[in-house]
Amino acid sequence: MGRIEKLGRGSPMKCKRCEKEMTPIEEKYHFTSNGLDYVYLSGIEYARCGECGEKSVRIPNMKMLLEGIGEAVVTKKLTLEAQDIVFLRKGMGIKAKEMADILGVDTALYSRWENGHVLPGKANARLIRLVYAASKEVGNTEDIKKFFPPRDREFVRVILNGDVESEEFEFEEMVA
Ligand SMILES: [Zn+2]
Repeated sequence: MGRIEKLGRGSPMKCKRCEKEMTPIEEKYHFTSNGLDYVYLSGIEYARCGECGEKSVRIPNMKMLLEGIGEAVVTKKLTLEAQDIVFLRKGMGIKAKEMADILGVDTALYSRWENGHVLPGKANARLIRLVYAASKEVGNTEDIKKFFPPRDREFVRVILNGDVESEEFEFEEMVA
C-alpha cells in the first residue's frame, strides 16, 4: 500500500525519499485505509518511484470519497459484512456503544457483529442501513439519537404542550 498525500492536484508527485519525480501507475489503487478490503480507486493520481519503488497516491477530497463509499456500502445488494458495519458506524462518527444504543441491542452482541463472529439478522441489518442513511440525510448523528431512546421505559401518560397555530409542541412524558 502506498502513502496517502494530502497535497492538492497539479504539482508533479515526488518521492519522499529520493526527491525524484514519480511515474504514474495505470492500475487501480487498492484503498484499504478505510477498513474495507474491496475498494479500488481509479481516476486518482497514483505513482511509483523508479529509484526506490516507493508508491504514492493523492486523494483530493477524502471526505467526499468516504461519503461516496458510504453510499455504495449502504445501498449494496449483498449482505452487510462486519467490515461494512464498522465502516458505516465510523462514518456516523460514533462509538460502538452509541451505535448499540441506537439500535437497541446489547453492546456485546453489537461487538460480535463488528468482529464478524455473527451476522446481524435481516431486520437489524436493515436498521443499520436506515440509521446510517438517516444520519447522512439529516447531516447530524446527534439528531438521529433522539429517535432512538437508549432504553424503552414505561410511562403513564404523555402531555403535549403547545400551540396548534404555530405547530410548536413540547412533549412531556410522565414516568410511572
Ligand atoms: Zn524513491
